[in-house]
Amino acid sequence: MRLILLGAPGAGKGTQAQALAAHYRVPHISTGEIFRQNLTQGTELGERARSYMQKGLLVPDDVTEAMVDARLGEPDAEAGFILDGFPRTVPQAKALEVMIQRRGLRLDAALLLVVPEDLLTLRLTGRRVCPQCGANYHVQFHPPKRDGWCDHCGAALVQRPDDSLETVKTRLRVYEEQTAPLIGYYRDRGLLREVDGRRPVEEVTAHVVRLLEGGND
Ligand code: AMP
Repeated sequence: MRLILLGAPGAGKGTQAQALAAHYRVPHISTGEIFRQNLTQGTELGERARSYMQKGLLVPDDVTEAMVDARLGEPDAEAGFILDGFPRTVPQAKALEVMIQRRGLRLDAALLLVVPEDLLTLRLTGRRVCPQCGANYHVQFHPPKRDGWCDHCGAALVQRPDDSLETVKTRLRVYEEQTAPLIGYYRDRGLLREVDGRRPVEEVTAHVVRLLEGGND
């Protein structure tokens, strides 16, 4: 399975990518996550990405594309991949096409998770993450058992700095301007599949799997 996930920040791409990666036994490749790891580790790539990420802006295409090309070259990606957060611009989509064709492969689908903007803002500003094990929570929709602490590993939960209301507004604007054009791009290529991302996680995953396996509902 070679799949890309499209949708605004907060649409549930990361959550669905994780479930689909487990279902299809392929790696979940999240460009946001790779950037965050590089930031934490203080690498040169992390330093280049830092100011863009803090402001909710996109890291330049050349930096992001080189990082994805390297990741797709790792042995586990031969089996397939679920790409989460890439491509985010039309030039990135074109670069991905070249990377995939060069390897003699093709994409199976571009999956769009559709969620209205008021719900996106609520989801993002209420999100809390575990810095230790990566588990995701929401203060209202998916609270941890003990307020502020991870159910899995007991670490103190944090809010991603770019989930503050001001930065969320910028991220949603950047999505509309730079990423939403990809919907038409993949529709024109016959690859776009759309699902309603407002429903519970398991329902969305089941719908996606049905769609990818040839169902048409
Ligand atoms: P995410 O976790 O997908 O919301 O990504 C967090 C941040 O990482 C974004 O706001 C961007 O600053 C950066 N980022 C992630 N993916 C990309 C991409 N494909 N192109 C440019 N910047 C990206």
